[in-house]
Amino acid sequence: MKVWLNGELVDASQAKLSVFDHGTLYGDGVFEGIRIYAGKIFQVAAHIDRLLRSADSIRLKMPYAKDELIEAMYQTLQANGRRDGYIRLVVTRGAGNLGLSPFKCLQPGVFIIADTIEMYPRQMYEEGMPVIVAKTLRTSRTMLDPAIKSLNYLNNIMAKMEAVDAGAGEAIMLNDKGYVAEATGDNVFIVRSGVLVTPPVEAGFLSGVTRGVVMRLAGELGIPVAQENFKPADLYTAQECFLTGTAAEVIAVATVDGRNIGQGKVGPLTRKLMTAFRQFTQSPEAEGR
Ligand code: PMP
Repeated sequence: MKVWLNGELVDASQAKLSVFDHGTLYGDGVFEGIRIYAGKIFQVAAHIDRLLRSADSIRLKMPYAKDELIEAMYQTLQANGRRDGYIRLVVTRGAGNLGLSPFKCLQPGVFIIADTIEMYPRQMYEEGMPVIVAKTLRTSRTMLDPAIKSLNYLNNIMAKMEAVDAGAGEAIMLNDKGYVAEATGDNVFIVRSGVLVTPPVEAGFLSGVTRGVVMRLAGELGIPVAQENFKPADLYTAQECFLTGTAAEVIAVATVDGRNIGQGKVGPLTRKLMTAFRQFTQSPEAEGR
């Protein structure tokens, strides 16, 4: 496998970072996970724009422009003969000293891996996934804004371990007000009185590219969409619930904390949106350049 590292395609075994890189020492950096469908990078502009926003938020000066990053991703795909799969684009703060200050790190590190990913077992896409509500709260926007896709994922990892311990596929995280924020690597939707409801940006979550596409597809299908806060009680009583994310795509939630959602299987609106999403990934609009 070839990895793109700081402007060069190198063998994966030779793709190395310094142990003094603050990405390694402190999780100081930003990244994107992006799908590739039929040779096209999915919603490439939205992903790169979010990467640039994340970098700007942590005052990391990006060493490459948007077009250069897109070109580098296509080069990586070509070098690996990959037409479907998943790209991980990572920007680290770069090598510095053992202190926290990022201003000693002179050159950010940029690398691109093109590989495959399977988030959840296939069976869960057919039957729906069991999830729990995590005890670990999502960091609030005033502490470390979840809208920044940083290399610091411990908050989510703590909640993910709760899910694994409980034998569930995912954990839904609440914010410090008790409202649903997101899952550990996905956004959350419920269907309530026929309306598709997802938390508003103020709830504090990573604004998913998949979330945006699904909201748009729902609109086109005539499904009413609302961005409103809701609590675990609303999850338990929802007609349907599903998660969206680059790696997960669209996946139904069958149970929350052991309680059936609707019939405890993939609901009709969820199924419609899963199909619409799959079709959209193969359409000329998928690249969104
Ligand atoms: N929330 C978090 C915490 C994530 O890491 C992700 C991406 N895996 C998402 C939501 C979904 O975002 P996207 O649809 O852009 O992948």
